[in-house]
Amino acid sequence: MYYKELVEVYDKVSQTTKRLEITDILVDFLKRCPPEIIDKVVYLTQGRLYPEFIPIELGVADRLIIRSISKATATKESEVEGLYKNIGDLGKVTQELLSKSSKQATLEIFSEVKRAGQITVEHVYESLDRIARATGEGSQEEKLRLLSDLLRDSSPREAMYIVRTVSGALRLGVADMTILDAMAVAFTGSKEARSSIERAYNMSSDLGMVAKTLVHKGLEAIKTFGPSPGRPIFSMLAERLSSSSEILEKMGGRCALEYKYDGERVQIHRNTGDAGTTLYSRRLENISHHYPDIVRLSSEGISSQSYIVEGEIVAIDPNTGDLLPFQELMHRRRKYGVEEAMAAYPASLRLFDILYADGKDYTTKTYPERRSALSKIVKESDRLRLAEQRAVDNPEALETFFEEAISNGCEGLVAKSLGEESVYKAGARGWLWIKYKREYRSEMMDTVDLVAVGGFMGTGKRAGHVGTLLLAAYEESEDVFRTVCRCSTGFTDEDIRNMRKLLEKDIIPHRHGRVDSRITPDIWVVPSKVLEVLGAEITLSPIHTCGLDAIRKGAGLAIRFPRFTGNWRSDKSPEDATTVNEIIEMYKKQLKKISE
Ligand code: ATP
Repeated sequence: MYYKELVEVYDKVSQTTKRLEITDILVDFLKRCPPEIIDKVVYLTQGRLYPEFIPIELGVADRLIIRSISKATATKESEVEGLYKNIGDLGKVTQELLSKSSKQATLEIFSEVKRAGQITVEHVYESLDRIARATGEGSQEEKLRLLSDLLRDSSPREAMYIVRTVSGALRLGVADMTILDAMAVAFTGSKEARSSIERAYNMSSDLGMVAKTLVHKGLEAIKTFGPSPGRPIFSMLAERLSSSSEILEKMGGRCALEYKYDGERVQIHRNTGDAGTTLYSRRLENISHHYPDIVRLSSEGISSQSYIVEGEIVAIDPNTGDLLPFQELMHRRRKYGVEEAMAAYPASLRLFDILYADGKDYTTKTYPERRSALSKIVKESDRLRLAEQRAVDNPEALETFFEEAISNGCEGLVAKSLGEESVYKAGARGWLWIKYKREYRSEMMDTVDLVAVGGFMGTGKRAGHVGTLLLAAYEESEDVFRTVCRCSTGFTDEDIRNMRKLLEKDIIPHRHGRVDSRITPDIWVVPSKVLEVLGAEITLSPIHTCGLDAIRKGAGLAIRFPRFTGNWRSDKSPEDATTVNEIIEMYKKQLKKISE
């Protein structure tokens, strides 16, 4: 098939924004398209060469494209650059230069030039594929040669689209959903098959392969399309509501609740054979290289030979075991230094779904069946666990679990349907999952001054040192110190090295009589040192004693994500520290802000 036929389609769809018109243009084209290249045509229409999850980048740098245009059109690079500055679209620049340079002149310079308009889709695809795959020494020159040859053989209009494709700027405005509509009509004669085709796409995230299967094997093959390790599945997504009673009503009076972890969603694929374990992000990128520790953790802790499971990667403070904010994981999103980031911010995994295991498709099973299957193949450890879960049937129980999730460092809850209809709906945002988040998170504006009452020994770089302090606020009425957080961030290496020495004189073998704590640290100290601390917010806590029962029976208050500011308040006595009442007031103010 000539590339100019595809270019005509590009032209036509660029001239309209009406989805139905675009669908008609595509239907007509897909019907004419030779079956052998249907996948390639679909990828090219999406502006790419492969499905999104294949980590081969076509994106050729502007610099190289400018050199290729210069070579193909026998124009000085500076002139190409000048035009680019004016026009702002390298595709248009190429088109203009190729139209200007008379074909005759081009023929004189390049004796082997083919007749423009005669290049095929196969030839364009193959050249772009070679450009994308060229790596290592000499690859830039190879890309330059391939691209300039291709442009030289193209008509001005063809060259425009080729340049836009290689620079990743095709942007035809054709949504995947429109291509699915067109495929249904072109290959099955009606839109009825649309939902089966869409399901196959959601199961494979590979539009080219779906088209190929449809053309070669028919709709029956599409209907039996299931999950397959190595092909990421579009994630199931949640709707949101902001009250517990609404959630229960929507769920039919009863549902399961899971902690909503604040981390990075991951889909873990394990294949038998050499392919091993691959991690995909919510956007289907292969993120295995960012998380070698998660790859190892899942290989060791999940027993099936092949599987697809989903969960959240979370960062946990190795010193306190507390969940850390999502930002800490961003240190992994870089090319180098992953090893260092791994040591500083070890990642853990909280699994919440299973889509496939050892030949069995779980996406058609209900949520309770999936959760039970998941629990059977996971060997839990500190770092690898199933998401915390509880079934509830009343708003009070839902609220209690919500506060527990928040005080344990989560964003809130995801409520999940327990009904017959609770299958895994790939790629869909629906009411089978409902998220319940604290909409507004108030920053703690003020620092607090807290008293050290105990310490925990560190791990990793901090092994052998006191790496974390148990901190307390002062309760004036009873002259006691009640715990409010464990703090391990903000200390310099020097602080950590000197910590034991600093506390030495205060260390005692048991809890001090004026300390009220439900937590037992590795060492106890006499309340004497005061530290300035800034936290993210104050939450209800099942373990701290500060403000116990003041807001809710059985719950105290905790400061989330406390960080030492570097200021040892040696000017303050422990009795001058922030009081329990002040912390209760700060919590109430925060609540008021949330409800405003
Ligand atoms: P958000 O930005 O609120 O995380 P989102 O658009 O990424 O939303 P949603 O489906 O709306 O995704 O919300 C659920 C998200 O919460 C998931 O994408 C996942 O990353 C995260 N998550 C954390 N814990 C769970 C859990 N137990 N079950 C499902 N999703 C969870």
